[in-house]
Amino acid sequence: MKYVLAGASGFLGKALARDLVADGHQIVRLVRRTPAAPDEVRWNPAEGELDAAALGDPDVLVNLAGANIGRPWTPTYRNTIRESRVSTTATLAAVASRLERPPVLITQSGIGGYGMDLGDQILTEDSQLGEGFLSDVVRLWEGALEPAKEAGSRVAALRTGVVLDRYAPAFQLLSLPFRVGLGGRLGSGKQYFPVVSLTDWLRAVRFVAEHDAVSGPVNISLPAPATNEEFTAALATALHRPAFVPVPGVLMKVALGEFVWELIGSKRALPSRLQSNGFTFHYPTVATALSAALN
Ligand code: NDP
Repeated sequence: MKYVLAGASGFLGKALARDLVADGHQIVRLVRRTPAAPDEVRWNPAEGELDAAALGDPDVLVNLAGANIGRPWTPTYRNTIRESRVSTTATLAAVASRLERPPVLITQSGIGGYGMDLGDQILTEDSQLGEGFLSDVVRLWEGALEPAKEAGSRVAALRTGVVLDRYAPAFQLLSLPFRVGLGGRLGSGKQYFPVVSLTDWLRAVRFVAEHDAVSGPVNISLPAPATNEEFTAALATALHRPAFVPVPGVLMKVALGEFVWELIGSKRALPSRLQSNGFTFHYPTVATALSAALN
């Protein structure tokens, strides 16, 4: 199949590109700089610029572009977080709606869209999106798929938990304190912390791309959701390090501002749509996902 990838220079984009090429698929990478390789095509999503003809006749467009949400959310940076996701999805949706053969359009999204701190509530794709900045971003991000859907494309939004892999910047940050013996639960540790192994995330993206029955929001997180305390214990075990030093939520709020809810806010998400369509996880528990990430 022919895939067009936005965000192909990022951690997830590089991993997906490698995976697709290894399986013999053709890829086109969208870049904001001057193209430097035969498989690169220039776009300017901030201005909605992308030449549909340069894409050939793609089967699937995947949007993995988005400015890093781990930086302080100043008013200007909030705009960058939102626009880097909405403008990229909207540009792809506009192009999809112009192509003669409507491609599948998949965008990354986030489990953070369900809300900041939702306790034990089970979150499936039928759950409502919540209130707050990230929920608003997710609403607009996923809403930007609409023109493609109206023009006949199958569209899907991947509401992904933290992707675990030893080379993932987010996972390296999470595991660093453990490596130096200062690891511990974050906040109360009772919060559900949605994660998935990189292997299963890649398999899930490919599953969504290849299965006509799958559309709309798709949660990608462990079918056996773990709390932060359980994640912490499993990470300490996997790294053969102690987990004695809990990080108080109040300190994290001061250090991280609203981003803290991504770490100490509870999201008990279930991958219902994937599972009801027959997807099975290679690494369904936090212990197996961590061991896959570290090996
Ligand atoms: P990276 O930060 O590694 O990559 C981000 C990509 O987005 C890069 O290719 C970059 O391209 C592009 N980008 C950055 N800023 C802009 C912008 N202003 N306009 C257009 N493109 C931009 O992120 P990941 O690969 O880790 O994640 C990809 C997406 O998935 C992000 O939206 C992220 O929030 C989301 N996500 C990630 C999870 C994870 O665990 N990694 C979990 C859940 C969601 P360029 O080279 O042109 O700068």
